[in-house]
Amino acid sequence: MTYVVTLIPGDGIGPELADATVHVLEATGLGFEWDLQSAGEATIASEGTPLPDRVIDSIRRNGVAIKGPITTPVGSGFRSVNVGLRQALELYANVRPARTMKGVETRYEAVDLIIVRENTEDLYAGIEHRVGPDAAESIKIITRAASQRIARYAFEYALNNGRRKVTAVHKANIMKLSDGLFLESCQQVAADYEGRVAFEDRIVDNMCMQLVQKPELYDVLVCPNLYGDIVSDLAAGLIGGLGVAPGANYGENGALFEPTHGSAPKYAGQNKVNPTAMMLSGVLMLRHLEERDAADRLEKAISDVIAEGKDVTYDLKPNRDDPTAAGTSGMADAIVAKLQAG
Ligand code: NAD
Repeated sequence: MTYVVTLIPGDGIGPELADATVHVLEATGLGFEWDLQSAGEATIASEGTPLPDRVIDSIRRNGVAIKGPITTPVGSGFRSVNVGLRQALELYANVRPARTMKGVETRYEAVDLIIVRENTEDLYAGIEHRVGPDAAESIKIITRAASQRIARYAFEYALNNGRRKVTAVHKANIMKLSDGLFLESCQQVAADYEGRVAFEDRIVDNMCMQLVQKPELYDVLVCPNLYGDIVSDLAAGLIGGLGVAPGANYGENGALFEPTHGSAPKYAGQNKVNPTAMMLSGVLMLRHLEERDAADRLEKAISDVIAEGKDVTYDLKPNRDDPTAAGTSGMADAIVAKLQAG
């Protein structure tokens, strides 16, 4: 069987990470046909938009996509392609696992978190305007429907993946109406899972402190969009950085897999950065396709290469200037060799 998958290489370091990821996915022995779709900076000049409709149509058609990061200008310029894709396809659940891996230097030993982030509303709804020359207003949208939908997703994820607890993250003490509604929605859904999955809630500032002090106490976190974005980068920091943090976006119209990190433009084209986050996003894609054996084999090959610490990129070396560090493609070759040996 051949899987037809939309492939969006993206900007900056995206294309080299996409090449490395395609290489290891194909080495699992599964058949893939890549529906290559450019988006981001490159398509602005040629098509006048960073997110042409053909990209959205391709994902709708294929139902599954994997993408590299895409640059979003800060403060001005075009709207985020990432946010645009999630909204256009109603990819409402952003799932970012954060688990410590042997061979990745961290301050923590046993972090195993799943961040479930609501992907369609909150301050990311993009409704903002100037109020005169010296003030601006952003509108935070929270609805019961979207909050209950993401809470249910988190509880179902917990049930199906042997997780014990869901923690709702909010700031309902201050934003009593919006975050209050998010918390209330989570509590309503939690009642349906009583006795099967535990439930608690934390105010987001306290949550950040607790994650830094005792991350092992937490399991699945369900967050509104903005807190989910911030807390998932914090969680990536707990496990050794953005280079090893994968992500997935799920909805009724498809699934889109992508690393948590951005396009790191200063490293573009240098064959230097760590492909692990995008490759582990590929592992999440294989699980979504119910290719459990291929997913397990690829995950193990990645873990083994990292644990050995030889053919890994500079950021995974104890000394970042280590001249023996592998490049992006070299690390991919080592993972392919492990897959073939296994
Ligand atoms: P970034 O994640 O691109 O880079 C921050 C730093 O993290 C880099 O300088 C580098 O030191 C490190 N890093 C990131 N990825 C790495 C990798 N694979 N291997 C090794 N080190 C890595 O964050 P930024 O500089 O804030 O953002 C750059 C651009 O990316 C912005 O335009 C931003 O909007 C965009 N962005 C896109 C996505 C996405 O496409 N999903 C996500 C976040 C940021």
